Amino acid sequence: IHRNQGEKEFFQAVKEILDSLIPVLEANPHYIEHSILERITEPERLISFRVPWVDDNGKAQVNRGFRVQFNSVLGPYKGGLRFHPSVNASIIKFLGFEQIFKNSLTGQPIGGGKGGSDFDPKGKSEQEIMRFTQSFMTELYRYIGPDIDVPAGDIGVGAREIGYMFGQFKRIRSGNEAGVLTGKGLGYGGSLARKEATGYGCVYFVNEMMQAKGLSLEGRTAVVSGSGNVSIYAIEKLQQFGAKIVACSDSNGYIHDPEGIDLALVKQLKEVERKRISEYVKARPNATYTPGCEGIWSIPCEIALPCATQNEIDEQSAQTLVDNGVIAVGEGANMPSTLSAIDVFLNNNVLFGPAKAANAGGVAVSSLEMAQNSMRLSWSFEEVDAKLHEIMRDIYRNSEAAAAKYGYPGNLVVGSNIAGFVRVADAMIAQGVV
Ligand code: NDP
Repeated sequence: IHRNQGEKEFFQAVKEILDSLIPVLEANPHYIEHSILERITEPERLISFRVPWVDDNGKAQVNRGFRVQFNSVLGPYKGGLRFHPSVNASIIKFLGFEQIFKNSLTGQPIGGGKGGSDFDPKGKSEQEIMRFTQSFMTELYRYIGPDIDVPAGDIGVGAREIGYMFGQFKRIRSGNEAGVLTGKGLGYGGSLARKEATGYGCVYFVNEMMQAKGLSLEGRTAVVSGSGNVSIYAIEKLQQFGAKIVACSDSNGYIHDPEGIDLALVKQLKEVERKRISEYVKARPNATYTPGCEGIWSIPCEIALPCATQNEIDEQSAQTLVDNGVIAVGEGANMPSTLSAIDVFLNNNVLFGPAKAANAGGVAVSSLEMAQNSMRLSWSFEEVDAKLHEIMRDIYRNSEAAAAKYGYPGNLVVGSNIAGFVRVADAMIAQGVV
């Protein structure tokens, strides 16, 4: 603890995983003998750097950049970059730690990493975004490469930012190493279905959980928080499965549209015009907008997909969801439910898809993007989507099987943590103390 003072998000993520590993550690004491827990919780490397840039008024600004290269035992470090004012070492380490197990669950050859900056993209001009992003890459380029570390997007980093970073990387390195970043535009090495992958994958996962109980998504009422990359494509896939999504949000508030969300309108507002979700009600007078985020969980629904950010569902919100009859919760965001909220879901027999399993579709397709870049090939949307679907099904089955094997049938928190851990721990033992 003294090594990681004050890093509360990192502690939360480590506690969630270590608590659920107890049965596998009891059954396999050699993991303890090899000091796997001590080694796995210490990043191989945490890089912190200055990101200076000049704003539109000609004033120099400074932000802090991070990259954590947590574990490379399964392959190159892989994980997104987040630009948000809340970013600090604790947030980056919690995300990087989770990423190790998530990437392991996908079955792909990728290690765990994460990065970002406390830069706030909100309200910045296009030129400011470009100048900041180029400055960020001017330092980050030293540490990344197609076989070393392959960043992608996350909150505040989408195709635009990835494009600027890719351009700057090539300018510095004077080579066309397409595989250095994923989430690229389709015209220059991006993969079809990457944009959709996390949201679609989350819904595929929830669908697996429901099918296993003889239930279906058809006709269900759903609430999806956020209105960013993950949320939009979770809504799209839910609609394709016949569900009705009645609410979504951004960091200022949420909209409730009892007739069902008009997704084309949300895409226009958030992806094209980069406006606030509050604008939605101007075009849909029967919908309501409420400032503040937590209230979204008081809207009755059978399916709840938290797809915005960490700790957005606390114990009370979880209880409200249960009281209102929620059947399934799929975590599209990373660590969106607090530990006590997860307990509420598990104790009330809610089908609960934890983040590292339910949102692994994004990084899985990022890995497929790396494969396509290496082969200099592009697969069709249908091919990638079919592989994504299969990967999500395998993650569900492997998590379910691990949960049952260690005495927690149906508990996918325990199951996904164990399934992810075992592959990493076995590889660490095989590769010696390095
Ligand atoms: P985006 O930036 O595209 O969207 C984030 C959405 O969440 C926006 O609607 C944003 O609102 C809202 N939001 C952000 N911060 C907060 C906050 N503090 N409180 C309330 N709402 C907030 O990010 P993504 O969709 O890519 O990421 C969402 C989550 O999914 C994150 O937890 C991320 O780590 C996780 N994830 C993403 C993957 C991906 O492939 N993109 C892969 C796996 C996980 P506003 O517009 O106001 O900022």
